[in-house]
Amino acid sequence: MRAAAVRHLKTDGSAASQSEIDAAVESLKALKIEAGAVARRLQAAVSTTSGGGSEAFRQAVVNTLERRLFYIPSFKIYRGVAGLYDYGPPGCAVKSNVLAFWRQHFVLEEGMLEVDCPCVTPEVVLKASGHVDKFTDLMVKDEKTGTCYRADHLLKDHCKEKLEKDLTLPAEKAAEMKHVLAVLDDLSSEELGAKIKEYGITAPDTKNPLSDPYPFNLMFQTSIGPSGLLPGYMRPETAQGIFVNFKDLYYYNGNKLPFAAAQIGQAFRNEISPRQGLLRVREFTLAEIEHFVDPEDKAHPKFSDVASLEFLMFPREAQLGGEQARKIILGEAVSKGTVNNETLGYFIGRVYLFLAHLGIDKDRLRFRQHLPNEMAHYAADCWDAEIECSYGWIECVGIADRSAYDLRAHTDKSGVQLVAHEKFSEPREVEKLVITPSKKDLGLAFKASQKMVTEALEAMTEKEALDMKAALESKGEAEFQVCTLGKTVAINKKMVSISMVKKKEHQRVFTPSVIEPSFGIGRIIYCLFEHSFYTRPSKAEDEQLNVFRFPPLVAPIKCTVFPLVKIPKFEDVAKQIAKSLTAAGISHIIDITGTSIGKRYARTDEIGVPFAVTVDSTSTVTIHGQSTWADVMWRFPTHSVTANDDAADQN
Ligand code: AMP
Repeated sequence: MRAAAVRHLKTDGSAASQSEIDAAVESLKALKIEAGAVARRLQAAVSTTSGGGSEAFRQAVVNTLERRLFYIPSFKIYRGVAGLYDYGPPGCAVKSNVLAFWRQHFVLEEGMLEVDCPCVTPEVVLKASGHVDKFTDLMVKDEKTGTCYRADHLLKDHCKEKLEKDLTLPAEKAAEMKHVLAVLDDLSSEELGAKIKEYGITAPDTKNPLSDPYPFNLMFQTSIGPSGLLPGYMRPETAQGIFVNFKDLYYYNGNKLPFAAAQIGQAFRNEISPRQGLLRVREFTLAEIEHFVDPEDKAHPKFSDVASLEFLMFPREAQLGGEQARKIILGEAVSKGTVNNETLGYFIGRVYLFLAHLGIDKDRLRFRQHLPNEMAHYAADCWDAEIECSYGWIECVGIADRSAYDLRAHTDKSGVQLVAHEKFSEPREVEKLVITPSKKDLGLAFKASQKMVTEALEAMTEKEALDMKAALESKGEAEFQVCTLGKTVAINKKMVSISMVKKKEHQRVFTPSVIEPSFGIGRIIYCLFEHSFYTRPSKAEDEQLNVFRFPPLVAPIKCTVFPLVKIPKFEDVAKQIAKSLTAAGISHIIDITGTSIGKRYARTDEIGVPFAVTVDSTSTVTIHGQSTWADVMWRFPTHSVTANDDAADQN
């Protein structure tokens, strides 16, 4: 397009001044440089994955991001705080585009129920979910300075360094260290401590000795209200807000399953020693989906929409067998049982489409199944969407079938039944266990402990109850362990009656399973920055220009408007174009600085503007972009303005 514009200027001597021709020639050169950069970009991509160039590549990306205010270390004028970052103007725009697309791709497409719950959460909620007791990492302290480190990170770094750099490491030791790396997540506090001592690991900065490892809870604690009597925490995930609202959401959905609720919001984790820049931070945006489904029917009506997708998957067996991730057709992964069920598979497919559409490189995106030691005991299956960047493969989205764990935990703690009902068309006859403790006889026997014994009897499983029934019938008495009393008591026939009775039931009451895709938005955005970045040489030989090649969907600014040369006539047209772009809701910048067109392109390349509109002497507006014309017409409506009797088309 631009070459044609130059030819046009050269032949049409009447309208074009020498300066206009020069400017157009310069812009053509910029385009040619850009074409040559495609090959170099591929090379850059390779160097990010080959390890050697990854540090330099990352530095170039991070420098550009910080210089152009995509993000800013928070509270910078006070020297900042590790693990806290602000998004600056282009960063905010990218984030808001990613979230808008997330809402469209998931919430709108699947008719999800979106909620927005507080970050400050009372302790009881996080006690029920297990976070108060178990949301911990093992920490060691520098015994002299008190500096804290994650115990597993120190051990991991030590083993990796030895394996990579110590050429004298005996084969036996190397095998042992490889084993340590493989079972790192499984090591107890004592085992970690023993290995740290055995390998002589000291504090990285001072070489001082380290304390024994001990658990550190990652939640930020606070108290709610002035009395300080109601303890609370900043939520470590948004999911709990959805679980505690299950009953109302189920009702809102017409008491029907399956349905999904979604939430976007801040999560807080007091990471022990945040590193890896934007990837491990102490406050971040999570976008979470809780899809509630009947545990007896995890089929998904839209699974066929994603079944033919083929992408990199890394099943458990491949990891344990030392193989690589390989391309697998999703439908096959589900039918062969590699992925536990259709609903989980459906979300894996939708997450793949989401990330690919955003501009994540498909060859550096894989779905890795959790190993048994990584998975919570209640989880049926878990897959992480991992994206490769200069830091290695990074977990960006966790997709887990958490079974009924969360709803059961909140039912137990709150006493509110978080259950679903399946109404039968015909009543069904079922055999039910009925346990009826005799409070009078239990009271006579156990006095003040009567309540605890009664509750324990009522909570017996079917097997325990039937065993007791058999013992009572054969021996007249049964031994019974009451955990809350911490002892075993003798139960006789008068104290409890146990029977199986036939009943007509009109419905099935059950706790739904939940499938949870959980998106770390900051991690996705950072990987997107790396995957979109490349450098191209400028006219000044030793200088490299930075470019973010964002898809228009995520680009912080969609378009720049350039008057080709700095004259009022062109500026007026440019301003009119800008006005219409605003009216159409298309973010843009107008650059009337009059510097060379090459420099102006370089400036917009650095913030990843995908389209440029240049205004030249014929008042023909030339549009340059990375997409085809059909793409542009599809995404953006057409507008026209008239200037100086000439029509100027713009998008
Ligand atoms: P998790 O609940 O630990 O599975 O985390 C859910 C998602 O949050 C992960 O897949 C990550 O993308 C993201 N995430 C977890 N911890 C952090 C962190 N410290 N900083 C940024 N993102 C995080």
